[in-house]
Amino acid sequence: MNDVQGDIPASVLEVLRCVQEREQEYVDRLIDYVSRPSVSASGEGVVDVAHYIRDRMRDIGLDTELVPTAGAPMVFGQRTGAAGPTLLLYGHYDVQPADFKDGWTSDPFKPVIRDGRIYARGAADNKGQHFAQLLAIEAFLACHGQLPCNVKVLLDGEEEIGSPQMPAFVEEHGDLLRADLVVISDGPVDPSGRPMISLGVRGALGFELRATGANADLHSGHWGGVAPDPVWDLVQLLATMKDIRGHVTIDGFYDDVQPLTPAGHAALDKLEIDVTAMKRDLEFDELAEPRDRSVAERRVVWPTLTVNGLHAGYDGPGLKSALPRQAVAKCDIRLVEAQRADDIFAKVRAHVQQHAPHITVERLGGSMEPSRTPIDSPYVEPVRRAIVAAQGQEPVLWPGIGGSLPLYVFTRTLGVPTIQVPCGNADQSQHGPDENLTLAWFMAGIRTTVTLLAELGQHEDTCSGPGRE
Ligand SMILES: [Zn+2]
Repeated sequence: MNDVQGDIPASVLEVLRCVQEREQEYVDRLIDYVSRPSVSASGEGVVDVAHYIRDRMRDIGLDTELVPTAGAPMVFGQRTGAAGPTLLLYGHYDVQPADFKDGWTSDPFKPVIRDGRIYARGAADNKGQHFAQLLAIEAFLACHGQLPCNVKVLLDGEEEIGSPQMPAFVEEHGDLLRADLVVISDGPVDPSGRPMISLGVRGALGFELRATGANADLHSGHWGGVAPDPVWDLVQLLATMKDIRGHVTIDGFYDDVQPLTPAGHAALDKLEIDVTAMKRDLEFDELAEPRDRSVAERRVVWPTLTVNGLHAGYDGPGLKSALPRQAVAKCDIRLVEAQRADDIFAKVRAHVQQHAPHITVERLGGSMEPSRTPIDSPYVEPVRRAIVAAQGQEPVLWPGIGGSLPLYVFTRTLGVPTIQVPCGNADQSQHGPDENLTLAWFMAGIRTTVTLLAELGQHEDTCSGPGRE
């Protein structure tokens, strides 16, 4: 345990002691859970595991239900009636596909423990992490017969395929999901190995630009400079979308970018991002533009436009003197608060209309809105204290992360602050072969939820529903 437990009330220490004594039993139960495939990409085992975890949630004392959706069922459980705020825990019971042949040392669905780690698909992402939260609830109820605050648990069965049901589900079940705080424990902690808190994600929007010329590739001697040249057309259009300083030049692109507060900037400045190591590991010499913004700012709170793919003409050996008939660019934009995908796509379309009306633009894939919980949310401090109490270390505070997750369904649709508190080792090999969760992190996840429930129990705020700030 750790040296800061002097601050922890005796009633909470009692729960932590219970947890410590039951480590072996907890590990055995996690092994049972992760030995059951629930692969959303193929559907294998998903419904069985939904029933399985629903039953386990009922065993520990939650009122549970399986809520049907157009896809995999949502598993929901709650224990309300306590004073104090309502905590909504979100996780997912589905996993990425896994095959022994992909380079696993042991069968991905026959969990084994090696060197203090449990190796199995889903061990870290996300079964091990939400199971730890459920065990904390169980331990609290076993010791005291009640929880210090209200708890709801929502487990998604399709997170690994982009949570297609979540936006509509959250829209429809606002009352069921009403809460004061959403906490998500998924993915790895800070690369340094220290615990972390993250307050947001960037959004994502994908699109394709397609320039067409003649109805076939043509001889560049006969037709170059005469027939339309889709490659130059496309390259010139792209050049109107971003300048050499890295500034996106689509009209209105930055209009809704919400600046960070001074506290947010202070948190960014504290992040230790080792640019020298980054350059060495990835073998590049210079950072891209915009160099007037820090790496942390660019990763977390600044939007980007990236050309993901550019395809045209011949790229085989030697030269082929032809004028290609078409050129295609696939692009993505990472959005930041308070940009909105529909609005930015309309601006992209207007830009293309203005600069190259003969080039088609098509939106690709499902977009995701950005999400940001303010750093001065009253819930950041209790979460921080809970981590320190359970883990004996200050968490690294990220105002957001560069990637995209559909957290906006909580922050925007429900209007509830949402905090990511990963409790999984940084080298968990999420989505890859030999996914693993250290037993130390599994236990830290349980302890952290115990101290979080206790901290929230001290918090006076109570749930006043959607729309609250
Ligand atoms: Zn995942």
